[in-house]
Amino acid sequence: MNKITAFLGLGHMGAPMAFNLIKAGFRVRGFDPVEELLQKSVEQGVEKCSSATEAVKGADFVISMLPSSAAVESLYIEKDHLLEAIEERSLIIDCSTISASSSKRLLNAARNKGLHAIEAPVSGGVKGAAAATLSFMCGGEHEDVERAKTVLQHMGANVFFAGPAGAGQTAKICNNMLLAIHMIGTAEALQLGVDNGLDPKVLTEIMAKSSGANWSLQTYNPYPGVMDSVPASNQYRGGFKVGLMCKDLGLAQQAADNSKSYTPLGSLARNLFGLHSLKGNEELDFSSIQTIFRKEADQ
Ligand code: NAD
Repeated sequence: MNKITAFLGLGHMGAPMAFNLIKAGFRVRGFDPVEELLQKSVEQGVEKCSSATEAVKGADFVISMLPSSAAVESLYIEKDHLLEAIEERSLIIDCSTISASSSKRLLNAARNKGLHAIEAPVSGGVKGAAAATLSFMCGGEHEDVERAKTVLQHMGANVFFAGPAGAGQTAKICNNMLLAIHMIGTAEALQLGVDNGLDPKVLTEIMAKSSGANWSLQTYNPYPGVMDSVPASNQYRGGFKVGLMCKDLGLAQQAADNSKSYTPLGSLARNLFGLHSLKGNEELDFSSIQTIFRKEADQ
């Protein structure tokens, strides 16, 4: 019989991840409070549920892809008390990027109820979610992570075991702090080239084969028109919202405070993205940081 997965959160990332499970032969019971998103997923084969509690009935796996620590704690523990409705046979896989402390709280609360849960935040963006090439950074019990591979392998190319509860989230925020820094650096370099008469496509080609090569430049170029099918060539719509990057940079700074680590570039990145967000760009893709380098006259 086909395995049943409950999928909670069918936004930019959750929806394509759920569709890949359907393609792999899973039955997917989905819920998202935004009716329009739920409806779009139903058109792709997701079974519509009117609540998270309904979705988890009979599920082998319960996957969540939510925006924040508050959303995860509210769903599982505080408001919806979803842990009360999840069956012992289910494995909970929370793929949201949240604080290590919230994630530990969820995994401990699940264990206290006799349930199995892991954290599995992802990297790879919306493109990676659609192409099933995500990297999962898992934390929790090793055997639960092994069991999760049954389902994770159909949504990603890499499943890493980072360590106990919280370790996956720590790996994720280190990665995203670095991502923010190289996205800002890439945008700054591209604008410098353009201001000095270079074609951004030519400059990208040169740097991609030189020591400036990096993911922001080669896979997710922030300069409009350099690459097809990235948010920069679609008015910075879709992708990874500035507001979510601000959240991740805040989590990185919290972790740095806790460990008394020195993160000057992470702190600067948080300030630049924070200001960009305040200027009304919270909903745009994070590569829109390119626009802070544009001269007023060119806007
Ligand atoms: P999103 O805002 O597009 O999607 C989140 C969805 O969760 C929304 O549709 C929202 O309605 C839904 N939701 C909120 N509360 C819910 C509940 N109680 N039950 C069910 N659904 C609920 O965000 P996204 O871009 O898909 O990101 C989701 C998570 O993945 C975030 O933690 C983000 O940091 C992380 N992430 C995103 C990307 C990216 O490129 N977008 C990449 C890696 C990681």
